[in-house]
Amino acid sequence: MAHVDDRDREHLAKAIRGHVDALCGLGGDRFPGTARNRAATDYVAAALESLGLDVERIPFEAPEWRYGATSLEVEGRTIVAHPGPFSRSAEAGGPLVEASSALQIEALTTRRAVILLHGEIARSQFVPRDYPWYSDDTHATLLAALESLEPIAVIAATGKNPGTTGAQSPFPLIEDPGFRVPSAYVSLEVGEELLAAVGADAHVQIDSTTVSSTGTQLIARLPGSEPGRIVIGAHVDSKPETLGALDNAAGVATLLGAASLLSGTATRRTVEFVPFNGEDHATSPGEVAYLKACGDLSDVHLMINIDDAGFVGAPTACSEYGLDDAARAVVAEALSQAETVLPGPQWPSSDHMIFAMRGIPAIALTTQDVETVTGEITHTPADTPDRVDEALLADAAVFAGRIAPAL
Ligand SMILES: [Zn+2]
Repeated sequence: MAHVDDRDREHLAKAIRGHVDALCGLGGDRFPGTARNRAATDYVAAALESLGLDVERIPFEAPEWRYGATSLEVEGRTIVAHPGPFSRSAEAGGPLVEASSALQIEALTTRRAVILLHGEIARSQFVPRDYPWYSDDTHATLLAALESLEPIAVIAATGKNPGTTGAQSPFPLIEDPGFRVPSAYVSLEVGEELLAAVGADAHVQIDSTTVSSTGTQLIARLPGSEPGRIVIGAHVDSKPETLGALDNAAGVATLLGAASLLSGTATRRTVEFVPFNGEDHATSPGEVAYLKACGDLSDVHLMINIDDAGFVGAPTACSEYGLDDAARAVVAEALSQAETVLPGPQWPSSDHMIFAMRGIPAIALTTQDVETVTGEITHTPADTPDRVDEALLADAAVFAGRIAPAL
């Protein structure tokens, strides 16, 4: 990578700001299956191609979730609810029953009921049965038990669980495209109201459906002179109903910044720029498509992932996963030259884990203030471009641009 002076850095920050604004300016979220998600990958592909990089496009199928008004009528009151992601639609009534534990779910016998899940069983999101990275037998058993009761709907009363669902409050307890029951979720307060009405008839209206749709996984390559790859990744998708500025337009903009620094230079390894398309999706369609296309990752010397970085006022945290001595030395050298990238705590979330779990060395660049970002901002409408500091991201791009050619 060529020397980067202050003016270059300013220029780079400006370009990164332009990418963040463009990705957040597509009319809403970038959830896979939507036209906005496809517009986002078109934008990123064009930006990578304008740098002279070859871009491979791998198409995948992902359902598009379409949803609208969702409510319950209980004892003469209308209660507004959130439709569960990928929920079937509902327009029917039945007796309101409740369960707060696995045992209570398994003891339910009323068919065609409206099932309120609350308390302990609703503290963290059920792992979707088609989640490619891990499974949870207890959750799978409970989802099947719920399906077998053929309920009118499952209504979950939830709070906040930053570890699995970011700052969403309430959060969707069930986010499983294969779940055959209409589902919705409400706040803990509304849950208390519903709990007081158990036994009454509840009429549920959920406007939600999924239609088959598509998306694209991109891979751009800067060919190296020797075998082996370095992967720079940042997920381009977002959750529904968020602009996903920090999560993760900022990461993609940083990836594009690193690509602009490296394009046209000679590198030892092939550098892959991968805007992963499904980090925040129940079936991770882009990640699965990437793995299918790239097979075994044993020739990857290092994966650099950028996610939730660039939060105003907080430096970037660099965490390491299974680095060998060569990679550790290169990363340490880059850290010594970086002003706003500092060693940070382990962050076992996001796309670097796909590599780390396979024993491939990886680093993650995220904000040092991950507590505020994932606890109060991510996956909500509060994740807006004004929270992003492009100067921090320019430093992160330079950092990635220093490491990639040095291995
Ligand atoms: Zn993310």
